[in-house]
Formats: sequence, C-alpha cells, structure tokens
Amino acid sequence: MNKQEKILIVEDELKIARFLELELVHEGYEVSIENNGLDGLQKIQNESFELILLDIMLPGLSGLEVCRRIRKNSKIPVIMLTAKGDITDKVMGLDIGADDYLTKPFEIEELLARIRAALRRNKTNEPEIDEILVGDLILNRKTRRIFRGTVEIELTKREFELLEFLMINEGIVINREQLLEKVWGRRYYTSTNSVDVYIRYLREKIDSGHKKKYLHTVRGFGYVIRA
Ligand code: CA
Repeated sequence: MNKQEKILIVEDELKIARFLELELVHEGYEVSIENNGLDGLQKIQNESFELILLDIMLPGLSGLEVCRRIRKNSKIPVIMLTAKGDITDKVMGLDIGADDYLTKPFEIEELLARIRAALRRNKTNEPEIDEILVGDLILNRKTRRIFRGTVEIELTKREFELLEFLMINEGIVINREQLLEKVWGRRYYTSTNSVDVYIRYLREKIDSGHKKKYLHTVRGFGYVIRA
C-alpha cells in the first residue's frame, strides 16, 4: 500500500467500532469513527475517505438515510453493517446505492475481503459526482458554478457555502445555530441575524422570479431546501 487508505466507521456500538478500528489499523488503513448518523454524514462532507463502513441502526440519522445522502454527490464505496438479518434492509441498502452488505456477527476476514474488493472496484470507477441537484437547481462543487435551469446564478463565497450545505441536507430543517457553526465556523463571532441576512440574499438569487420556491423558512425552527 503506497498511501494509507482512509476508512470511516459509522457505528454506535462502541465495542464493535473499537474492534473494527483495531483490525483495520492492523491491516494498514487509517481509521476514523463516528457514533451517530448525523456526525458521520458531516464527517464525510468535510473529509475525504476511500470507504465507509456504515451501520444501519444508528441514532441521529439511520444508516440507510446516510447512504442515500452520500449517494447524492459521491460514489465512495459504502459497506453497510447491520445486526438485523432482515432482507428488506439489505434490498433497501443496495437499492439506495450501498456497494455491499454484511450482517453482524460477521467474520473479520470476510469484512476485510469485501473492503479490499470494494476499494479495488472503486479504483476503476469514474471520479466523484460533483453536482448536487435540488429540482432544477444545480450546484457544481468543482467548478463552483450554480444554475437554476439554464440560468447561471452568481453567489459570493459565503452564499455558495450556505447553499451547498442546505442542498446537501435537502429536506432537513437546519436551525440558524447549526448554519452559523457549519458555514461560518464555530469560532466565528457573529449573531444568528447574519444567517437571516444571507438567507435573504440567497432567496433573492435562487428563488425570486420563479414560481417554484426551494428555500423555505420553518418558523421557530430554521431553514430548509426542498424541491
Ligand atoms: Ca447500531
């Protein structure tokens, strides 16, 4: 192995997570662990990994939902792990784009073999999908360009990051504190009013003049983008 391949384990059972970590580190992988679905998803958005081991029954956001969201903009190999032998979970997992599926308890050798296979397959794949779509709103993370239909929208860096975060989390209401933390950063001393101001700019740019609005205010909770 010339460079260490990074694997993220999203698993709420700490003993299993720790066990997997030890085994994977022993195999030469670099390993990170998250214990709930939301943190896992955020980790995936903020760092790059070569593979995700994703438990299905997770607090925060289920593994299936995490996988669905990963697939909105990434082809990273995902191996789902579950305690349930439930066939519907398996079918659903594969339907929403998981690469493989393993029922606990499993033999570590089998998991390692599947990880190697998934990483091998991925090497021959096309690069990551750079576009996030919500309705006819298209955000390209690589070119940093945004289109509503065929019309290009000009955004400032902050507006872009705000829109990107909301689009990645399509359908989830995000409160102002979360937006402040994710887009402005934890140590940025500004008030949540700035969030409202930027939301207003953003709404003006992406929704105004269109019959169909994507950016919604959920009074008392926050903001959400949905088609
Ligand atoms: Ca679990």
